[in-house]
Amino acid sequence: MPDAVKVGFTPFSTTPRGVLVVFCDDALKLGTVTSRALGAAADLVKRAAATNRFKGKSGSTLDILAPEGLRAPRLIVVGAGKLSDIKDSDFIKLGGAAAGKLNAGNDAVTIIAELPDGVMKPDQAAAVASGLRLRAYKFDRYKTKKKDGEDDALAAEVWLAVEDVAAARKAFAPCAHIVDGVVMARELVNEPPNVLYPVEFARRASQLRKLGVTVEILDVQAMTKLGMGALLGVAQGSTQPGRTVIMRWNGGKRGDQPVAFIGKGVCFDTGGISIKPAASMEDMKGDMGGAACVVGLMHALAARKAKLNVVGAIGLVENMPDGNAQRPGDIVTSMSGQTIEIINTDAEGRLVLADVLWYVAKRFKPKFMVDLATLTGAILVALGTEYAGLFSNNDELAERLAKAGRATGERVWRMPLGPEYDKQIDSQFADMKNTGTRHGGSITAAQFLQRFVDGTPWAHLDIAGTAMGAPKSDINHSWGSGFGVRLLDRLVAEYYEAKR
Ligand code: MN
Ligand code: ZN
Repeated sequence: MPDAVKVGFTPFSTTPRGVLVVFCDDALKLGTVTSRALGAAADLVKRAAATNRFKGKSGSTLDILAPEGLRAPRLIVVGAGKLSDIKDSDFIKLGGAAAGKLNAGNDAVTIIAELPDGVMKPDQAAAVASGLRLRAYKFDRYKTKKKDGEDDALAAEVWLAVEDVAAARKAFAPCAHIVDGVVMARELVNEPPNVLYPVEFARRASQLRKLGVTVEILDVQAMTKLGMGALLGVAQGSTQPGRTVIMRWNGGKRGDQPVAFIGKGVCFDTGGISIKPAASMEDMKGDMGGAACVVGLMHALAARKAKLNVVGAIGLVENMPDGNAQRPGDIVTSMSGQTIEIINTDAEGRLVLADVLWYVAKRFKPKFMVDLATLTGAILVALGTEYAGLFSNNDELAERLAKAGRATGERVWRMPLGPEYDKQIDSQFADMKNTGTRHGGSITAAQFLQRFVDGTPWAHLDIAGTAMGAPKSDINHSWGSGFGVRLLDRLVAEYYEAKR
């Protein structure tokens, strides 16, 4: 089980079970409920803090084993830092910090949802619970033995002691579905490419039907009929046939214009005939991080019964070198009718997206399209692993994405688009070529995609730096991060959903 943490809520008055987790500020102050629960052991916190040089800084922890005067086998004090600095977006990190201290030996945990200046609001307690689950996720399905110091994933009953149990439960219900969506995206990214190839990916996406999502799978024959020559050109070098999966959640009014999310799903990218160097090629199992995010997002939206109509579409292929693989110099005809000269077969993601974007724009005429793709190494050069690159033809959509990014910590940084960059992808033989020069590689990729959105308000997120292999964070220790699920759920909830 990737995530065997069960979260429940309990009133402050119940006796804590198992490991006790409490919060303090940067003056080591504790709240009233917390002080009452600790009783004489409150003094122990002060003494332990002094010997451990624990100052209550945000996200820091103090771990006291077998605390004298307490029933709990362990007391974990999590620093919340300076109270006046705490933002709503910090609570998820506090949950993550607590989870970072827990281990597989802890089967019951009670967290007192209180800061020194008052009890946590239902949303804040829910965020702590979300952070805890996100941080506890571990992908170890293929490890049959554990080495010394390697722990099993946390499998615990976690109780949040809160003031109002019903309100906290209500606040956490949608959050739990969002966490499930993130976990689903992480699972897909972490899975090895011999297990997760296009047909298997499509099968897993089709499990969303259980939640009321309509799932259509386009096979090679269907895509050929539609004229998806750009996507099929990439897929043709693999023995694994490509697929396009269309997922629809209709939680809005019948006939309401949907919003659309599109994901690059290159289940493995060798580069094709323009083959990549061997070093780190194994990371290219994560070249479907955009598609994974779209599936996780569709899960979250459907499970929490989001009140809007949503289309999710993913193009699934494997990019392999083979006797049948496409060559540099080949010219393919995309579904839009525009022709593309292949210069480098490793610039395959944009070819896949070109057909899926066009298909979605034409068939669904969505309010907007957001695509996610582990598209370019150049975005890592520009932004590192802290921000995803954001490209958009629509200022309102771009601003909303930036705000949702700040609120969730899944941050995006806007990059330019402009006709000046088009020159780089002019081809002497076809309507365009699939790569430009080394300079501005993320921008020319976005510029290429823009030719396939048919004027639809659109944003492109280049998540090559954030979807996998990013440094561990307060709420993620997994290689596949599930980046984008929380960001886009927030975008939808904040700006596009009918209010309840
Ligand atoms: Mn590539
Ligand atoms: Zn790729």
